[in-house]
Amino acid sequence: MADVYIALGANLGDREANLRSALRAISGSERVVAVSSLFETEAVTLDGSEGPPYYNAACRIETELEPLPLLRFLQSVERQIGRPAEARRWAPRLIDLDLLLYGSDIVETDDLTVPHPLMAERPFVLVPLAEIAAGLVHPVLNRTIADLAEEAGDAGVRRITGERWDGLTGDGPG
Ligand code: ADP
Ligand code: MG
Repeated sequence: MADVYIALGANLGDREANLRSALRAISGSERVVAVSSLFETEAVTLDGSEGPPYYNAACRIETELEPLPLLRFLQSVERQIGRPAEARRWAPRLIDLDLLLYGSDIVETDDLTVPHPLMAERPFVLVPLAEIAAGLVHPVLNRTIADLAEEAGDAGVRRITGERWDGLTGDGPG
């Protein structure tokens, strides 16, 4: 059983609905144990041009899947929500599911790098993640998520709903 953190992002279509669909699809086969608040964030593009703003969130799952099968599963959820398999990197997308952390494993293959290589510089990843994993230690940088989030700051990141906006975790109405 591995403890895994996933970043969710969407900047096309009904962004909140896309994130909810992704969480629902993930929870259909994996155990979703925590979900961050929902955030709206400024798009980060390769050439610094403007793109539609994102909705971002982070979730924690417990899974029996190994890292690469888990990535393939997340990619199948992306396609199920309508993201074309050959989408350009950095292009606007209906859904983006990135594998941030897989326990304290370090994975370095052509298709998969874990911890996600850019997570430590991205406020739109770290701010949501810090809500559900503040004390977790990044296995390469040996620093807590809270520490990394504080250093990255929260420029361009705005919380738009309270916790459990997803309605998937906890006992009461969310
Ligand atoms: P990005 O998320 O960087 O904007 P994409 O979602 O288009 O870009 O992903 C492009 C490729 O990144 C995928 O084909 C996948 O194989 C690779 N990749 C490497 N490491 C990871 C990871 N930790 N999580 C998700 N995708 C990853
Ligand atoms: Mg991705």
